[in-house]
Amino acid sequence: MPAPRLGAEHAAVYGGTGTRHRHALVPTVHYTGSLTVDTEAMSVSSSLRLNLLGLPREHLARQFELWGERSFRATQLIKWIHQRGVTDFAVMSDLSKGLREKLGEVAEITIPEIALERRSDDGTVKWVLRLADGNAIETVYIPEDDRGTLCISSQVGCALDCTFCSTAQQGFNRNLTAHEIIGQLWLANNRVPVPEGRSRAVTNVVFMGMGEPLANFDAVVEAIDLMLDDNAYGLSKRRVTLSTSGLVPALDRLGDITDVALAVSLHAPNDALRDRLVPINRKYPIRELLAACRRYTRDGGRHHRVTFEYVLLAGINDQPEHARELIRLLRDVPCKINLIPFNPFPGAPFVRPTEAAVREFERLLGTAGFVTIVRRTRGDDIDAACGQLVGQVEDRSRRAPRMIRLHAELPAPAGVRL
Ligand code: SF4
Repeated sequence: MPAPRLGAEHAAVYGGTGTRHRHALVPTVHYTGSLTVDTEAMSVSSSLRLNLLGLPREHLARQFELWGERSFRATQLIKWIHQRGVTDFAVMSDLSKGLREKLGEVAEITIPEIALERRSDDGTVKWVLRLADGNAIETVYIPEDDRGTLCISSQVGCALDCTFCSTAQQGFNRNLTAHEIIGQLWLANNRVPVPEGRSRAVTNVVFMGMGEPLANFDAVVEAIDLMLDDNAYGLSKRRVTLSTSGLVPALDRLGDITDVALAVSLHAPNDALRDRLVPINRKYPIRELLAACRRYTRDGGRHHRVTFEYVLLAGINDQPEHARELIRLLRDVPCKINLIPFNPFPGAPFVRPTEAAVREFERLLGTAGFVTIVRRTRGDDIDAACGQLVGQVEDRSRRAPRMIRLHAELPAPAGVRL
């Protein structure tokens, strides 16, 4: 299977998100501190350092060459940072003293700051991470017997307005950088005790936190590159899941360059309902989205089958007729279906379905031959369950008023005032 390629194809302007992306062959440069550059000497002052945390090996090797160093130094450095959790150049003993001193002058390894850490009774851990610009994002670690799953964020807030999502209510500020994304994995692996029999706490990563990852394509692909790199985290592509609400052009590009597992936030069996629950559907309707899913799985085993996420909202999309419509819709798509009973959050205009309604929905799908899993709620005592991540977003998109209007358009489930 091909590893993610980092090339010209990453440069693009994505429709619908208004996000312009850089050419990825140019090493991503994340500066912190005050911006004072000695342009004549092309050197960097001590107050302007390159954060190496999010640089994939290919980029880091180019950076070392630019510094007049051998490119294999990149592999050494990546092992120190991502395998050993070391952020101090001074202790990287297989680098020469001169190189360590030089790195200390021009570069740094900066991890997002933990503003809050909450541990659930069920072992789930939620971190609120403070970013350099004052925004905050959330990351959640979910331990299970045989795995540790990290749910990571890709943006500060989200611009896509899904009506059942607490992140959407925060509005949108900006994309995360690659180092802010991979920093979440670095932190979790260095904060959570390693369970017996495992080499690391985190065995699986899901892009299901704040944000639409395909709207932050380049940084997400760079972070995935590090996740899959044997010299960094060495995760299998089956253990990295990208979840999208359905940005079709970006999904096609993703399928061309990587083959991580794919989850699609479907949430409705027809366009009329999905237009309201997942507004990006108005731009990329279900027919186009499913065609893109088929292309992603075009070579059978080359990509995983798609996982469709379906949040069950009482009285909205959880009725037997919705299940039957979903069965007709997905019968030709290699997939499995995750059912997520809605996790309420303050101000949410929806309610969780009854256990009986959830079981009946699951039974109908199962009888039709679909592999169907009802997601157990984890960490809801610390607001870390699916759909509850909010962070702290300085809203530049003025989405909150629009969310109120979208809620007003929805049919009200019995007993619920919208
Ligand atoms: S569900 Fe995902 S894509 Fe939709 S608003 Fe929430 S974070 Fe964004």
